[in-house]
Amino acid sequence: MKFLPAVLTRYFSNDLGIDLGTANTIIYVKNRGIVLDQPSVVAIKTSTHEVLAAGDRAKDMLGKTPESIIACRPMRDGVIANYQLTESMLRFFIKEVHNNRTTLVRPRMIVGVPSGITQVEKRAIEDSAKQAGAREVHTIMEPMAAAIGAGLNVEDPTGNMIVDIGGGTTEVAIISLKDVVYCKSVRMGGDEMDRAIVQYVKRKYNLLIGERTAEVIKINIGTAMLGSEVQEATIKGRDLMTGLPKTLTLTDAEVFEALTEPIAIIIDAVRSALENTPPELSSDLAERGITLAGGTSQLKNLTTLLEAETKLPVRLADDPLRCVITGIGKVLDNLDFFRDALMR
Ligand code: ADP
Ligand code: MG
Repeated sequence: MKFLPAVLTRYFSNDLGIDLGTANTIIYVKNRGIVLDQPSVVAIKTSTHEVLAAGDRAKDMLGKTPESIIACRPMRDGVIANYQLTESMLRFFIKEVHNNRTTLVRPRMIVGVPSGITQVEKRAIEDSAKQAGAREVHTIMEPMAAAIGAGLNVEDPTGNMIVDIGGGTTEVAIISLKDVVYCKSVRMGGDEMDRAIVQYVKRKYNLLIGERTAEVIKINIGTAMLGSEVQEATIKGRDLMTGLPKTLTLTDAEVFEALTEPIAIIIDAVRSALENTPPELSSDLAERGITLAGGTSQLKNLTTLLEAETKLPVRLADDPLRCVITGIGKVLDNLDFFRDALMR
């Protein structure tokens, strides 16, 4: 392959890595890097099921569509909630990546999947990727990919703990010798936090806000531990008493209160993983600590809270949103070395 003229290689080296996340889909092309990073949202025409948009353009339509259009998040909650829509979305993205140019060889694909996935769900994803044009599909557990992407030495006979907190799920895994020794997946992540904020504001102020508004509040003033300085955010929604639009100010203490339960569930998942770790690996963890990945791991003060709760060093990976795809990319580029890391 090395001696092919540049013009030709692009027709051959089109193997793809895909992080099919509940919130974001990221695609990596072998030897080229990340070529697509879009929200996992698709919009279709209700009557014909024709895809109108996917990614950012579809996300802008969420909650605002007329009856003739459906805009939705097909991967919501960590697995394929809607098989057909996931496939349509994937196909749309892959076509975009290929820029509609024809390739001589259909690509191989490595797709990251949640560790809690059932065999049936795994098959559904593999079928989706095949339908979307793959010649050969491999799957890799997301926490494994995240660990590789975060630069952990997964090939060592040493315990590494990775906690990937995404939109729909939190995956806690202990990895040693390129294999998952223990993993636990809970359906708790950034989406549930957004919903908790929506519920909180509704209960306390009779104000209905959208999940996207809640997400912005979470990112701006959400925190896992309260600081000394008060932070505020202005929110707009619909007053449930009058039915009219209304604006009010929310403090970080209120958002913190709304997030208490989702955060407690994440901490519990980490604790129970630690309790289930074989003793030899436990001592490795005491030394190496815990690595956090995934978009929600960026919630303010979450690292500090986890350190306090586990008494272990906790490190936030570089570029947490892209750990999984970076890992998949490394696997794709060094398939022989990482073959054991793929799911069987
Ligand atoms: P997935 O793998 O499920 O697609 P991601 O790892 O892409 O999820 O993370 C998406 C989640 O991260 C969303 O819920 C988003 O709101 C959240 N998120 C992104 N940035 C931040 C931040 N700075 N603070 C808190 N949450 C964040
Ligand atoms: Mg993810």
